[in-house]
Amino acid sequence: MKATSVKAYGTESAEADLKQFNIDRREVTSKDVGIDILFCGVCHSDLHFAHNDWDMTQYPVVPGHEIVGRVTHVGAGVSKYKEGDLVAVGCLVYSCRTCKNCKADLEQYCPEWVPTYGGYDKHLKTNTHGGYSESIVVDEEFVLGVPENLDPAGVAPILCAGITTWSPLRYWNVGKGSKVAVVGLGGLGHMAIKLATALGAHVTLFSRSANKIEDAKALGADEVIISTDQTQMEKALGRFDLILDTVPYAHDLNPYVGTLTTNGTLVVVGYLGPLDPMLVTVPLIMGRKSIAGSLIGGIAETQELLDFCGKHNITSDIEIINIQDINLAYKRMLKSDVKYRFVIDMKSLKS
Ligand SMILES: [Zn+2]
Ligand SMILES: [Zn+2]
Repeated sequence: MKATSVKAYGTESAEADLKQFNIDRREVTSKDVGIDILFCGVCHSDLHFAHNDWDMTQYPVVPGHEIVGRVTHVGAGVSKYKEGDLVAVGCLVYSCRTCKNCKADLEQYCPEWVPTYGGYDKHLKTNTHGGYSESIVVDEEFVLGVPENLDPAGVAPILCAGITTWSPLRYWNVGKGSKVAVVGLGGLGHMAIKLATALGAHVTLFSRSANKIEDAKALGADEVIISTDQTQMEKALGRFDLILDTVPYAHDLNPYVGTLTTNGTLVVVGYLGPLDPMLVTVPLIMGRKSIAGSLIGGIAETQELLDFCGKHNITSDIEIINIQDINLAYKRMLKSDVKYRFVIDMKSLKS
């Protein structure tokens, strides 16, 4: 199949910095949409993947799965989009569309889903490459429409950080009167506060430090509980219907389980790996409580979120960078030194 060579930023090994090189994009097939990338959010997964932290990276890798751009061309069979439309691409670019999960709009749980980078592009027979690039070609079923009233740079993180927190909020029916708590105030946590607040929930942030109180309240949180303060934690026992745990490393879940109400659920969305320390089952059993996990969201649910954000004027709080600053941005992310997401202005790659 014919391909076009485009500029991208990525790495050829776990140790090397990201740098500029060219990649191939397939020509637009009948069901494909060609997109000029305007902005791409920088997710923790990008950094882990570039560094091969999960021991599954094939090089070269071009990260980026929080993509916002304009449609430049469409295949003859495309009906959903036309040239000039503001669109987005998130974490997946293909799935089988015949399995039980695909039929239930849960493409993210399809055994054959193709991630936006580090997956397999069956057309070019190479790895898929992500949004740290000038342009991308994606099947229209995996392209999302972006409300024109939203700032496109602030929309980018909705495609991963946003949908990762939205999907559990919707699955566990959060609405007016729900008591929701969020653990961790980063890219995911700040979106969780905004979205749960907009759904009408009473929202609490668990934080280890008092210096997050003002920030959390500015984002819409009703309350902040300092998780290292025993008195505050005891007062919180049995209170929350849903806890969204966004912390991206191994940590102690036990103190939070006690703060769930009967039938309450703690959902882990930020960390993949064994828990340390281990989970104590007593508070789970004494109240039929659950620990669950959740991965991004399906295509229909992601579109629902973008439409909800358009209606409620919600975007991420971001810091815009040039692509040439990406290695520094990764270093700052490892120190949690960003409020709350870096977004790359792709003009910097084109010039
Ligand atoms: Zn991500
Ligand atoms: Zn499937």
